[in-house]
Amino acid sequence: MLPESFTCYLVTKDADGNVAAEITQRPIDELPEGEVVVRTDYSSLNYKDAMGATGHPGINRVFPYVPGVDAAGTVAQSGVYEWVEGDPVVINGFDMGMNRWGGLAEYVRVPQDWLVRLPEGLSLWESMILGSAGFTAGLCIDALQKHDVEPDSGEVVVTGASGGVGSVAVAVLAKLGYHVVAVTGKESAHDYLKKLGAREVLGREAVDDSSGRPMLGGRWAGAVDAVGGNMLGTILRATRHGGCVTACGLAAGDQLPMTVYPFILRGVTLAGIDSAWCPLSLKHETWQRLAGPWKPDHLETMAQTVTLAELPPKIDAILAGQITGRVVVSIGASKEG
Ligand code: NDP
Repeated sequence: MLPESFTCYLVTKDADGNVAAEITQRPIDELPEGEVVVRTDYSSLNYKDAMGATGHPGINRVFPYVPGVDAAGTVAQSGVYEWVEGDPVVINGFDMGMNRWGGLAEYVRVPQDWLVRLPEGLSLWESMILGSAGFTAGLCIDALQKHDVEPDSGEVVVTGASGGVGSVAVAVLAKLGYHVVAVTGKESAHDYLKKLGAREVLGREAVDDSSGRPMLGGRWAGAVDAVGGNMLGTILRATRHGGCVTACGLAAGDQLPMTVYPFILRGVTLAGIDSAWCPLSLKHETWQRLAGPWKPDHLETMAQTVTLAELPPKIDAILAGQITGRVVVSIGASKEG
């Protein structure tokens, strides 16, 4: 039996365009359409969630609205044979927390094929330490492998390394035997990144060239870039012949100032990564890998767990690029996970 109402992190916008958020109760029938209702144990805070929570029109335009592109919990009600009450599940991406109410709530309702059965090897809490950020890191690594970037190909650079995507990318690549160079703007994160497995940690200026040269000395065999802008352009200009650069984020900007020379003279591949609408088969495969051979050894060292009430300062911090690792949001479960 579902309750009549549920707690959620509700974002509202008034007639003057002022955006506000509160933790409140809403009737359960306000949940969007779908075959399956999930009781959320944990969600997580992604950069996108912070944008949504502060009213960014690129995330959501219809208010009131519940952010949260991730949720992990158990099936509470199912209208289909494939899912039964009590099934542990993970949901990430699609339109959840974008144009439809998301995971920062006690309950979510989604179409049946948006659910991924919690893979063996991950707890619900661990699945949200990974969340969309970790899943995206997994897609980036999958793309590198599909473009023949192997552990013996050379150095792989990870930008935004202390953030969510970056932390998981560093840890998984290191576990797989890659020579990882982490780029961070946080002096305080150097030890953290070395512990995750980075062989070298560089400041952002090392990949933020302003010489205007169309090509730089070829250093990188591959890259996981979470920041975009001139850093992505610099990395592409400094990628070796046949290398692959995966672009998934825009923490430093949405522009890409460069020429086509790295593509036509070095055969460099720029691989775009979209976690929200990735094919279902790849989605299931990626979660299986992240729960098994790719699972970071000390996943818990990346995590801080907060309640919904403790979320607002974390939203400000992630927008300011100040979060190290991942923020898990405990909703229907014990805070410790
Ligand atoms: P985080 O905020 O956790 O990490 C982003 C990191 O980028 C920061 O911690 C910081 O790392 C670095 N950074 C922040 N601002 C700047 C800046 N101005 N210049 C250079 N570096 C900066 O976010 P996530 O890891 O969750 O997400 C990273 C990006 O990936 C976001 O843009 C997000 O929207 C995108 N994303 C895309 C997905 C997709 O499907 N394509 C899915 C998930 C995320 P440091 O201090 O170590 O340099």
